[in-house]
Amino acid sequence: MSKFKGKKVLVVGFGLSGVAVTRYMCKQGARVTVTDSKQKTELNDSIKAVAELKIEYDLGKHTNKTFHTSDMIVVSPGVPLNIRPLEEAREMNVQVTTEVELAASVLKEPLIAVTGTNGKTTVTTLIGEMFKADGKPAYVGGNIGRPLLDYVTDGPKSDYVVAELSSFQLELVRRMVPACAVFTNIEPDHLDRYVDMNAYIAAKKRLLAACDRNSYVVLNHDDPIVSSFASECPGKVLWFTKRDPMSIGGEFAERFHGAYFIPGSTEIVAKINGKEERYNLAKLKLFGDHNRENVMAALCACRMMGVSAQAIQKVIDEFDGVSHRLEFVRRKGGVFFINDSKATNPASLQRSLQAFKKNPVILVAGGKDKDLDFTPLAELVRRRVKILILLGEAKEKMNRAIGDLTETYLVGTFEEAVLLAYQKSRSGDIIMLAPGCSSLDMFRNYEERGDYFKKLVHQL
Ligand code: ADP
Repeated sequence: MSKFKGKKVLVVGFGLSGVAVTRYMCKQGARVTVTDSKQKTELNDSIKAVAELKIEYDLGKHTNKTFHTSDMIVVSPGVPLNIRPLEEAREMNVQVTTEVELAASVLKEPLIAVTGTNGKTTVTTLIGEMFKADGKPAYVGGNIGRPLLDYVTDGPKSDYVVAELSSFQLELVRRMVPACAVFTNIEPDHLDRYVDMNAYIAAKKRLLAACDRNSYVVLNHDDPIVSSFASECPGKVLWFTKRDPMSIGGEFAERFHGAYFIPGSTEIVAKINGKEERYNLAKLKLFGDHNRENVMAALCACRMMGVSAQAIQKVIDEFDGVSHRLEFVRRKGGVFFINDSKATNPASLQRSLQAFKKNPVILVAGGKDKDLDFTPLAELVRRRVKILILLGEAKEKMNRAIGDLTETYLVGTFEEAVLLAYQKSRSGDIIMLAPGCSSLDMFRNYEERGDYFKKLVHQL
């Protein structure tokens, strides 16, 4: 009999993850109540998805008593853990957990977990494709695709589970033991939700704490925060880096396990279990060195999970990239249009600018600020951005930080931005949407923003 049978479970937050928890808990025989600060009309999709289940709703508000009298509370990643009724419930020893933690505690398949500030989706997708190319059934989900708990509830069963995990999803993780954990990088993001950078790092680090001595841990050597994790890592470390390990020297070079790529080169060199492997990048379609890093991270994880080098090379040769990440949209009048709507923080915007070294860039940026600092973009804006077009809630703040460094315009709408960008462009220019901010001031999500940009570009 399920340990949840007859238990009073409160689901806080009713997006994809809340729906997954509701379906799982109902199947386990729990008595489920769903609460969300949003109104019923804003939650139509979720309500429809569980229409056949018997559940209670407390919408448009949170009722403290419901929190206090539950046997278990499952919090969605979008809900901060410091809201008052949750804090009170924890003080009263009500068990508080998350969808990811619930799923991880019952997963039997080896779990490959990917986290980091940027590159998670690309790396997770690459890993999934590499498993597929090798004929190994793998479920890919978590922060992309379907939630992990949907896999537990519905199957069909795979031999491996590959999960993208955000910092929010890692916050309460305790019982997850990944077969392999990948950390792409850690840079400032979500500082509107975390007290400070240390709190954000601590959330990511829960994935490291979850590993045991049999876990493989893939770390970015070039990222000072991620590379510092090695000293606390219970598992076996694989590195990826854009430097030749020999130039780093010492024990690191002697015992190097992982992959490296030297910018400008057309291959990735890997040292896997003492043997050298070479991966040719001539056919790789992804722009930018950061995507070479993503390939290295994915290949390290895959080689440890038994994926063949041939399957990895096949994916390198054939992978088309993920939409909204430096996605090529169109060429018109010699001008290239790139949609990078998923560049939702200054660090990813920086990488997007670095990806195009030769062509002048007309950058469309701005959106909802997450209390992030835009001044680190200064040097790149000065060198690479021919024209800067700012819009959205953060436009004034961005203008004050980087607006004086190039020809800059502040506009009110996406229509104006795209039109102005095209009018100002000359053959050979790149017009790129890379907002450096989230989309929530004007759109439901970054996909909607990217799709709208693409639509306007196609209408030109
Ligand atoms: P995430 O899932 O972590 O948001 P994505 O793979 O969706 O990562 O990429 C989001 C954006 O981050 C991309 O549009 C690109 O601008 C940037 N990016 C991708 N990979 C990296 C990386 N390894 N390092 C830094 N920035 C990256």
